[in-house]
Amino acid sequence: MELNAKRVLVVGLGKSGVAAAFFLKDKGARVTVSDAKTEDQLREHIPALLDRGIVVEAGRHGERTFRDQDLIVVSPGVPYDEPHLQAARALGVPVIGEVELAARFLQGPIVAITGSNGKTTTTSLIGEIFAKSGLKTQVGGNIGKPVIEMAAGSTPETWNVLEISSFQLETIETFHPKIAVVLNVTPDHLDRHRTFAGYVAAKARILENQAAADFAVLNMDDATCVSLAKTVKAQVRGFSRRGPVRTGAYIKDGKVLYCDASGEREVMPLSEIMLKGAHNQENVLAAVCAATLAGCKPAQIATAVREFRAVEHRLEFVANINGVEYYNDSKATNVDATIKALESFPGGIHLILGGKDKGSDYSVLNTLLKERVKRVYTIGAAAAKIEQQISPAAQAIHAETLETAVRKAAEAAISGDVVLLAPACASFDQFSSYEQRGRAFKELVNALAARKGREVQGGAA
Ligand code: ADP
Repeated sequence: MELNAKRVLVVGLGKSGVAAAFFLKDKGARVTVSDAKTEDQLREHIPALLDRGIVVEAGRHGERTFRDQDLIVVSPGVPYDEPHLQAARALGVPVIGEVELAARFLQGPIVAITGSNGKTTTTSLIGEIFAKSGLKTQVGGNIGKPVIEMAAGSTPETWNVLEISSFQLETIETFHPKIAVVLNVTPDHLDRHRTFAGYVAAKARILENQAAADFAVLNMDDATCVSLAKTVKAQVRGFSRRGPVRTGAYIKDGKVLYCDASGEREVMPLSEIMLKGAHNQENVLAAVCAATLAGCKPAQIATAVREFRAVEHRLEFVANINGVEYYNDSKATNVDATIKALESFPGGIHLILGGKDKGSDYSVLNTLLKERVKRVYTIGAAAAKIEQQISPAAQAIHAETLETAVRKAAEAAISGDVVLLAPACASFDQFSSYEQRGRAFKELVNALAARKGREVQGGAA
């Protein structure tokens, strides 16, 4: 793709937008960036952009800015149907995403991981297995490094392991993974994709440029993935927690097994997986498929999986205080992730729910709430909606803030119980990100642990 002297507009100044702007500039393009946020909100990026001779439009999107371009590169945070983008498309200006731009410059095979939940965990795990098996590996995408920043370091031998969101898939054209992994497709982001069918269609795009020499790794326990398997051009490798699949990874008799044309073989005992919860077994199975397809050996896979611990904010163990375990699952930003978190503990759960609603139906939690949850503590803007929808199953304590929720849960929990932050909502009402929310939770728990420690010492003196 020739970029020299081309007029290129980058829309949206997030991490990937900034990286795209620098990349384009290095390729000789005449780069403008436009973001609806104010100059003040963008101040951490603007000086570096101006220094590099990039034109910055902040606080608005100018009509002409969008019209007079040879190419528009759009960030995943910008809605596909943003009116300026629609107008530019109507005029014939090509509009692509940062991932698509990167795909045109990235060398070496791509392993792309998408799904409603488990992307970061599975992407990190695949990256670890590849690296420990001696493959030249780069990890990035929706996690860590923007894909465009990986282009420069790639060679024909590089395995590019990419976490890809449905938003990033909306703006691909030629993006072509050698191995595409779809972990699961459950309702999420309906505020942006509007319908479940629209969301499924966006996820399915990860498979659209694959051919017969490629592989689609699909969850055979997920109805949407099963239906995708029927339409793909790539070779399917399935994975299932429930029982054997013809070609792929599964669990049988407490073991992780893999089966293909050369027969069934054991990868590792289930008991050696340190990650909590059945959903993480699914992530491991998906990783086993991807790694086997890339040529990793069962023993190498087993070693890497055995050493892999929860990624921060993903059902992360925080502390055990007087027999009560505290888990930080701040990344559970949708109801399905909360369901998976609840399924990871047999009972005695004190659950903290709430934050910014994404148009979710919280009543789907009710069966598990009845079965396993002692008390629910609600926080944030979604509290009233949640309380109403879960009322047949649980009487929620309206805690308002995370601090109050942790305090009340700690007061009520007895030895053997679990205090779980798995809020089923986005964080943006009270926090800047799920990471900040998770860190706040851990600080509250650690402060509690320190206080309890002092009490014990004081009592003994
Ligand atoms: P993503 O990057 O897709 O958001 P993460 O690995 O960050 O995925 O996990 C997000 C949330 O989903 C966490 O709460 C985690 O515990 C939960 N989760 C992880 N893997 C799965 C899975 N396979 N199915 C359902 N939930 C999962």
